[in-house]
Amino acid sequence: MSQSEDTIAPTNSLTNHDRKAIHLPGSIQPHGVLLVLSNELEILQVSHNTQEYLGREPEDLLGQPLSYLFDARQTETIKHSFTKKIGTTTGVKVTIMTLIGERYFESIAHRTADALILELELIDSRSELSFLSFQAWASEAIATMQNTSNLREFLHLVAEEVQKITGFDRVMVYQFDQQQAGSVIAEVKRDNLSPYLGLHYPATDIPEPARELYKRCWLRFIPDLTAQSVKLIPTENPITHQPLDLSYSVLRSFGSCCAEYHQNMGVAAVLVISLIQEQQLWGLISCHHQTPKYISYEVRKMCELLGQIVSSELANKISHSEWDYKVKLKSLQSELLASISQADNFIDALIKPEIRLLDLVSASGAAVCLDHEITLVGETPNIAQVRALVEWANNQVSDNLFSTDSLPQLNPRAVAFKDAASGLLLLRISQVRRYYILWFRPEVIQIVNWAGNPNDSIQFEADGSITLCPRKSFEQWQETVRLTSLPWQPSELESALALKNAIVGIVLSKADELAKINLELERSNRELASFAYAASHDLKEPLRGIYNFSTVLLEDYAEILDDEGVECLQTVVSLSVRMETLINALLRLSQLGQAQLRLEITDLNELLNQVIEVFRASRQNSQLINIRVPRPLPTMQCYQVLVNEVFSNLIGNAFKYNDKVERWVEIGYLDADQHLLDQTSVTPVFYIRDNGIGIPEHHLETIFRLFKRLHSQEKYGGGAGAGLAIVKKIIELHEGQIWVESSLTVGSTFYFTLE
Ligand code: ADP
Repeated sequence: MSQSEDTIAPTNSLTNHDRKAIHLPGSIQPHGVLLVLSNELEILQVSHNTQEYLGREPEDLLGQPLSYLFDARQTETIKHSFTKKIGTTTGVKVTIMTLIGERYFESIAHRTADALILELELIDSRSELSFLSFQAWASEAIATMQNTSNLREFLHLVAEEVQKITGFDRVMVYQFDQQQAGSVIAEVKRDNLSPYLGLHYPATDIPEPARELYKRCWLRFIPDLTAQSVKLIPTENPITHQPLDLSYSVLRSFGSCCAEYHQNMGVAAVLVISLIQEQQLWGLISCHHQTPKYISYEVRKMCELLGQIVSSELANKISHSEWDYKVKLKSLQSELLASISQADNFIDALIKPEIRLLDLVSASGAAVCLDHEITLVGETPNIAQVRALVEWANNQVSDNLFSTDSLPQLNPRAVAFKDAASGLLLLRISQVRRYYILWFRPEVIQIVNWAGNPNDSIQFEADGSITLCPRKSFEQWQETVRLTSLPWQPSELESALALKNAIVGIVLSKADELAKINLELERSNRELASFAYAASHDLKEPLRGIYNFSTVLLEDYAEILDDEGVECLQTVVSLSVRMETLINALLRLSQLGQAQLRLEITDLNELLNQVIEVFRASRQNSQLINIRVPRPLPTMQCYQVLVNEVFSNLIGNAFKYNDKVERWVEIGYLDADQHLLDQTSVTPVFYIRDNGIGIPEHHLETIFRLFKRLHSQEKYGGGAGAGLAIVKKIIELHEGQIWVESSLTVGSTFYFTLE
């Protein structure tokens, strides 16, 4: 397994039998010596094993200058190695004349914040790897790897190369998932070893501090997990009085937990190479050997370089497939946005075709919720469930974008619809209104093969704390994961957010446009009304002149005109009378648009009685006028004088356009369940029904136009043809509606509402 780090996490929630910070172990592995130097190159601390490697006791070395061990040229080279930035290690081959003879070392130097660290590993001078052979290997390996397009194939090749250069029994490539659990996605091994390919390892196997170190150093090497660590002398840096930071040390010792973990797996040597993507630990190349195994610093450097190449190539390989997907999502997005911006109703544009809305985030269902109106697309929970989900999200989710691949774990009620929505991606479009788009993904039952029971490493203590300890068994352990969907990808979340921004943009700009049009309309309406008023008002004066002069002519000059001349003058008089009627109607209509009106609570029965009274008073045969009011009318807020005009006009017409001997008119209102328009409306729908001549079907709308009459002037008492236009205008001022139903020769019913 990938775990090679020393201890298990000393996080807040966890306790363990080794709580030391893993970068401050105060000891090293025994395959080299470590010297801590001051900036002046004085030896401050050494590992306890100097006698074995350098033939000198630690006490001999402490306080000595570096030149005590190295000649002037080598001292200068080493000094130069420390000039690099913190954490950068530099290897230089050195020769030391020890009391036990001349010895060759790889000297590996680096700086920490407060010390210079020099680590020496013995080398065989003849086994040097030439730069040329390294370069030849590297360019061939890189070329082969670059030629693969498939990520798994690529990583398999990487594992092969690493095995070739290190000679380890098993080389595996791990990838971490979002929960930090690792799975083996490539493996090269000796035939006699059982495969680990496809196995998963819990996140607890590599605690956070260890992950942090993997991010900082590309390589971790433990050649012998059974070896005893070697203490530093003195334990603390004598200048800073702090334990030595060994984060970047190649010899840093390992914890017992780490040793036990690997020994339980039958592993004696470990080499781990980090794979890093966008500063995050993407995965590891982990090498196991069944027996202790040392590899030179040079080979390790090659592995480190390989890790870096793989990491950057990884970005290409991943981004290639991600790129294709992103391009697909982008083109869907722009298609969708184009239709939304052109559509009058953006919901229609969103859900037609349905598949586009789903494909935008690779979902199998979606719900578009605009306040209480919910539209479902594809596989979804039912309307009531979606409504409850929106309610839940409204209380629980504060972000505009929220996603989960395990909704039932967050909202237990979601278990009921796990088949449609174990995964939820929720987009809030408006903060003010409840505008949401929800996308759903079904439950995908997964069988996860763990390398051992992942819970084995967690022990619950009596005091409620948790202890992590190495797992004993790595026998394959299967877990069935339920109530989860496929995870939402970052590009899908981006796609959803882009949609929100676009909708908000489009809706806002549409609202802006509408507001502008409304203003413009209001302005032109006002202008038109004042024009109509001015025009009709001014027309009346010359008209009166025409009328007066015509009547003067008729009265005083009739005898000098012949019959035809008199007839012409009479026509001028009657036409000017008619014209005045028309102008008055126009004036009335234009006044309606301009008047400052006040709504009043009105008992419509009283109002109707007044109308009927005036009506009867103006008729001679009022006994023939049968007006029925089946039940009292309600009391409503309205513009009293105008509603009076509505009733007068409609009742007047009801008798006017009636040729029956017994004429009647009925005035009433419909109950809510009788409403023809809208079942949920509570506004009364008034009606005025007559037994008159009726109106042809194709004129049911045109009669409301100004000056529209269906008959000649001589018939049915004449008229300006403006009454219904005025009535309609009054109804509109109340934000109501008016319409008519009619049957020729049987009668008509005018309906209207006053909102
Ligand atoms: P006017 O009555 O001055 O002609 P209106 O605007 O009141 O103007 O009516 C327009 C036309 O609608 C009338 O000319 C008539 O043909 C028709 N009309 C109105 N009310 C009725 C009704 N109750 N029955 C039949 N026809 C009607």
